Amino acid sequence: MTKLWQVNAAEATPEHPAVRAAAEMLRRGEPVAFPTETVYGLGADAGDTAAVERVFAAKGRPADNPLIVHIADPSQLDGLTAPPDDTARALMAAFWPGPLTVVLPVVPGAVSPRVTAGLATVGVRMPDHPVALALIAAAGCPLAAPSANRSGRPSPTRAAHVLDDLAGRIGGVVDGGSTGVGVESTVVECRPGGRIHILRPGGVSAEALRLAVPGAEVTSARESAAGADPQAAAAGLAARAVPVAAEADAEAEGTPKAPGMKYTHYAPKGHLTVVTAEPGDPSGRTAWINRELVRRKAEGERTGVLAAEERAAAYAADTVIAYGPEGDPAAYARGLYDALRAFDEAGTTFILAEAVDEAGLGAAVMNRLRKAAGGRVVRAVP
Ligand code: AMP
Ligand code: MG
Repeated sequence: MTKLWQVNAAEATPEHPAVRAAAEMLRRGEPVAFPTETVYGLGADAGDTAAVERVFAAKGRPADNPLIVHIADPSQLDGLTAPPDDTARALMAAFWPGPLTVVLPVVPGAVSPRVTAGLATVGVRMPDHPVALALIAAAGCPLAAPSANRSGRPSPTRAAHVLDDLAGRIGGVVDGGSTGVGVESTVVECRPGGRIHILRPGGVSAEALRLAVPGAEVTSARESAAGADPQAAAAGLAARAVPVAAEADAEAEGTPKAPGMKYTHYAPKGHLTVVTAEPGDPSGRTAWINRELVRRKAEGERTGVLAAEERAAAYAADTVIAYGPEGDPAAYARGLYDALRAFDEAGTTFILAEAVDEAGLGAAVMNRLRKAAGGRVVRAVP
């Protein structure tokens, strides 16, 4: 049995009876899911190897994929990591609490080796959600917490998503309503010379990082090609399409990637392809998608489209989900995982999602879409 507590964000304190009960369960070594401003996390005492192992087991998560450690106050870094350098400090001052994870050298023995997957570093963040902060404070220890979904599935943005994936597999869920940002934190590493290296794009954009630390160079990790074959994707479509490769590497070859980046992630059950428009021609893409839908329906597929609300009515899919207004990647981020799960609920077998510009939160949205689609990104040819 998985226990379910309701905690209103406005009433969340470490003394709240449900928060105390959930913290008690965490201290007993049972994984508990809780809301953050990004997605729901599945927490365990970061120092308790048996508890952390239950998190991996509940999710079916590969053991070489490290967990992010969540703290309620920057003072909890003492004894957990090496002292952050000036750049890391500036980032924490600017974005904590918030969707930014900073990877720092770990103090040996401070957390379970399962949390770091044996690395000499640990990713840490202070979430911007009253329920998360109250729960970490009540538990009295940093919480290691990956997203509270079965490994490979879209991340949960509501307590119901957590229960869909993990009911009966974890101790409890604290329901604090829908999360805000909708995609995971940005994971960064501060490199010598004041360079900020993005290991995973997320809720804090590269542009925001640049503004927060004037003069800092911001670079990005190359995206892994796990399962990616845009060439084959384009060939497999009925309408003519051009494969689109992931964005160019900002780093030299041989740069270590963030652990976990090689795994397929966030995937709906249906076959998802991301469709980019010819520059300045979104209506050409709409026509292209509709041609493809006609053929797929004739083959017996249950079709779905994820699109800007301005175009939603123009699509002839069985299920059309609007992510929000065109040019609003924050809205796309907020609704993305919920939409992918909604396609599953509708039994959708073939999904086309509109690509967005990679500016601002668009970088995180496109990163998640590429992974959810197993690298199938194509450009519609009119
Ligand atoms: P998730 O918990 O599913 O949001 O995934 C956490 C991600 O954070 C991992 O897949 C890594 O990409 C990244 N991460 C966590 N800890 C580290 C670390 N010590 N070094 C590099 N990347 C990390
Ligand atoms: Mg995850």
